[in-house]
Amino acid sequence: MKALTRRARKDHWRYQDIVREHGIKQAGYKGEQSLDYYMDFLPKTNPPFSIFQDLRLPHTKESFFQMDNTLLHPNFMLILEVKNYKGTLSFDPKFQQVIQEVENNPLLSLPDPILQVKMQEMKLIQWMKSKNLPLLPIERLIVMVNPKAVIKVDSLHGLVERHVIKAPALHDRIQNYLKKYPDQILSKKDYKRISSLFIKEDTPSETSPIIQFGIIPSDIIPGVFCQRCITTSPMTWHHGKWLCKHCSFVSATAHLPALEDYALLISPTINNKELRRYLLLDKPHTARRIIQSSGADYINSTQGTFYTIKI
Ligand SMILES: [Zn+2]
Repeated sequence: MKALTRRARKDHWRYQDIVREHGIKQAGYKGEQSLDYYMDFLPKTNPPFSIFQDLRLPHTKESFFQMDNTLLHPNFMLILEVKNYKGTLSFDPKFQQVIQEVENNPLLSLPDPILQVKMQEMKLIQWMKSKNLPLLPIERLIVMVNPKAVIKVDSLHGLVERHVIKAPALHDRIQNYLKKYPDQILSKKDYKRISSLFIKEDTPSETSPIIQFGIIPSDIIPGVFCQRCITTSPMTWHHGKWLCKHCSFVSATAHLPALEDYALLISPTINNKELRRYLLLDKPHTARRIIQSSGADYINSTQGTFYTIKI
């Protein structure tokens, strides 16, 4: 995603969407980081909780369901959904919505995360049944990780209190679950089986940002960017090094991030002609030298030599 923000043509009709999506991903990432901090304070149990992050399991033949964090314990399971919302959040589960109010912005209606985790739970139960796994109690929680967010409740207070907490309350809430479910449901064997099935059936999404935003290779800006200044004119290859004409920065390895962008956005393999077009080089032997020095493996095929970009 970051590669796309760097490389997509600024006049692409969805450029603003790309930048916004990138911002959302970043915010999500920071939020999870702060949840990780609280995870370190989970109650000590024997065996300890197993934490599975971003599990994406099959639901039907063509569809999947995804859970931010799934905590497995022999007595119960917990689905944790992380939200890094800012501003004032009014939970209104009666109308399946959360109203977000951020200063100087219009009111926003967000999808109800309580309903979202409820759906995840139902799909998880179906999945466990399809695998003939023993059914153990499942709890679900939405963790609000932004410490400055203000939480209000507009309807069904009990439901919101049961399923929504701020991150510092996580430890106590899990202690309560341990009291609520004192009996061990899973044998050691079942516990291992569920863990290994989670890992085996986890299917990370293949939807690349390229497909999502309808980016074609000609939308990607070619050239090696200067790491030191913000000029948009690409660096030029000069006596075995890259030179920025704008700030005179010289680098022998400035093509490495450019190659990484290519691998992420266009293709993990590249041939000499494509390489010259992308790095804006004239001579085939220069292109060959650069790609070989980057540690790329190559494949000789009937269509010529292809290099596998090392990232
Ligand atoms: Zn420069």
